[in-house]
Amino acid sequence: MSDDLLEILSEMAEIECDVPLASMTTLRIGGPAKYVAYPDSTVALDALVRFLKERGIPYKVIGKGSNLLCSDEVFDGVILRLDKFNDYYFIGSSLIAQAGCSIIALAYQAMKNGMSGLEFASGIPASVGGVTFMNAGAYRSSMSDVIDSVFVYRDGKFEWMNNDECGFDYRKSIFQKHPDWIVIAAKMNLVPQDINEIRDLMDSRRERRMSSQPLDKPSAGSVFRNPEEIPAWKLIEGIGYRGKRVGGAMVSDKHVNFIVNEDNATARDFLTLVDDIKDRVEEKYQIRLHMEVERFNWPNRK
Ligand SMILES: Cc1cc2nc3c(=O)[nH]c(=O)nc-3n(C[C@H](O)[C@H](O)[C@H](O)COP(=O)(O)OP(=O)(O)OC[C@H]3O[C@@H](n4cnc5c(N)ncnc54)[C@H](O)[C@@H]3O)c2cc1C
Repeated sequence: MSDDLLEILSEMAEIECDVPLASMTTLRIGGPAKYVAYPDSTVALDALVRFLKERGIPYKVIGKGSNLLCSDEVFDGVILRLDKFNDYYFIGSSLIAQAGCSIIALAYQAMKNGMSGLEFASGIPASVGGVTFMNAGAYRSSMSDVIDSVFVYRDGKFEWMNNDECGFDYRKSIFQKHPDWIVIAAKMNLVPQDINEIRDLMDSRRERRMSSQPLDKPSAGSVFRNPEEIPAWKLIEGIGYRGKRVGGAMVSDKHVNFIVNEDNATARDFLTLVDDIKDRVEEKYQIRLHMEVERFNWPNRK
């Protein structure tokens, strides 16, 4: 791509060039992205997306990069980051938050405002856009329990979609079927509650996470979806893979459904370990595990 392109993109957003995806993901893995764009308004985002579509230039929205396994290859396109979409508003018992807001920060703000509902999300290192896309959840709650509606950019229009139009299910949403739609904001319904009770619940959840998850090492959270019959960790434990290592990627010895970047892991190390786990689990239990972590920019692999 040319310097001319850089000039045009820079008219619509702040642009960075040749940025390692490793620096934009919690796994700290991934080759360079040719361009990263930070639009600061819906008008700029609309202009940018129309332009990229017209020119057939590939693009991808990234939130906090906490559910991505990016390949080691160059991404010859534009990463769209909504970091400047970071306003939020408490209106009565509703919270409207733009896609770039951190869900952890919002959970703490909600607590300070005496609003309950986001305690489960207070340890998920993600953006509002990402948790809506994934219907992220924990402790038997998920975003679909609190989301009232989602403000979305689709087919060149900005519109609100109600919760029941969002196709929410376990770690699923309609947005996964429409990767060109962009979540701009979400409206959440919260419930007034005593601040101390909310804080106590968040504290106990934090302690539980800290004691059970390898939060001191780069990871993308749980690697595999839980099959209906049995949690993924039991299957991985069952094949004796606690601490199993391929290159710099390692099955965490603290939480076996986490694969951590122990020592300069490549994307290839990570995926080799994932494939090995899938095969060994299938051999032993006749259950095929599926990745919850999304692969991005794997040009030579389906
Ligand atoms: C330590 C750790 C703990 C975790 N714990 C949990 C947990 O308890 N529960 C859980 O469910 N997950 C957990 N995760 C996984 C991860 O945080 C979630 O999947 C989260 O929803 C990803 O959000 P993100 O902003 O990082 O999205 P990204 O990883 O940046 O992107 C994920 C997908 O969302 C899409 N996307 C992002 N923003 C938008 C947008 N504005 N519009 C349209 N699409 C968008 C991207 O294109 C991509 O396809 C954990 C991860 C880590 C590292």
